[in-house]
Amino acid sequence: MKTQAAIAFSADEELKIEEVDLADPGPGEVRVMVEACGVCRSDLSALEGKETVQFPVVLGHEGAGIVEAIGQGVQSLKEGDRVILSWTPACGVCSGCLRGEVHLCDAVNMTTEGRGPLTLGRQPLDRFMALGAFSQHVVVPEAMAVAVNSSLNAVHSCLIGCGVTTGFGAAVNTAAIRWGERVAIFGCGGVGLAAIQGARVAGAAQIIAVDPIPQRRDAALELGATSALEPALAVKTILGDTQGGVDAAIECVGNPEVMADAFNVIRPGGRCVVVGLPAYTEMLTIPAIMLLQEKSITGSIYGSANPAVDFQKIASLGDNKQLLFEPLVDKIRPFTEINEGFAEMREGSLVRVVLTFS
Ligand SMILES: [Zn+2]
Ligand SMILES: [Zn+2]
Repeated sequence: MKTQAAIAFSADEELKIEEVDLADPGPGEVRVMVEACGVCRSDLSALEGKETVQFPVVLGHEGAGIVEAIGQGVQSLKEGDRVILSWTPACGVCSGCLRGEVHLCDAVNMTTEGRGPLTLGRQPLDRFMALGAFSQHVVVPEAMAVAVNSSLNAVHSCLIGCGVTTGFGAAVNTAAIRWGERVAIFGCGGVGLAAIQGARVAGAAQIIAVDPIPQRRDAALELGATSALEPALAVKTILGDTQGGVDAAIECVGNPEVMADAFNVIRPGGRCVVVGLPAYTEMLTIPAIMLLQEKSITGSIYGSANPAVDFQKIASLGDNKQLLFEPLVDKIRPFTEINEGFAEMREGSLVRVVLTFS
């Protein structure tokens, strides 16, 4: 079929919406009509040439929509199902999947190297995270479209496809925050605000948010942070206020200096979790001796979540207002205004721009 997709032809060039060819779903695949897709920071990194994508590429990996057609043998979905797109293929046969860690599936990849159902004339198009959801339709394996029964609208539910699961899961799964703990969250964009809510839902007693932008600190306080600090004074203030450090710190910026700050504010035996996406070339420096205080540092991808199970649970928290989605979206734009949306993300003060397709 023909559909409309926003194509990035090279780094730092404006996206162009073009009519493209999308193959019918093959065995085990489904076609989803995309209703909404968030503009995530990693789309911006990819556009800036910091991630492995092959131009021309269709970005977009935080989408929600409705199943429109199913290929042969599809068992988990039917036409009309409301789905959230997932960027782990959850192949089911690699060692990660067999261990039950589908977020570490070997098949997770930023690039498809142009292989797949999407072409512009004869030119193959890459799809970021094998989704390419800045498009009116996508064709994906059934495991990458997760049916969710929820009263959330697509503008909110699409965030579960990346930012909310990444942040919320980093707090509840990777950092495994327990009730009564003290937590610091560095970076209060979409992912950081979801991590704050994860800490709140997990029962943290103290949640210290750190961000340079006043509006984001306000949003953090609204969503459950118990205090909010500017970065310059954060390490000293946190160490002083907590008499030796927090139980867990989560970095949601992707900056090695901030990662080191997050590591430096945990108590002996504390956990530091890095969620932010750095560029491939960046290195992290921390005082090695601190590891002998049994401080740990670990990364977190996709909130250590299993989308097939966790998307529904997160949506249910949203349905019941335990997890608030409204403050996570500060701009809704029609798909045709995608370049304006990218400009706003680049400018940096907004939490999330969501594009709608209709
Ligand atoms: Zn993302
Ligand atoms: Zn796998």
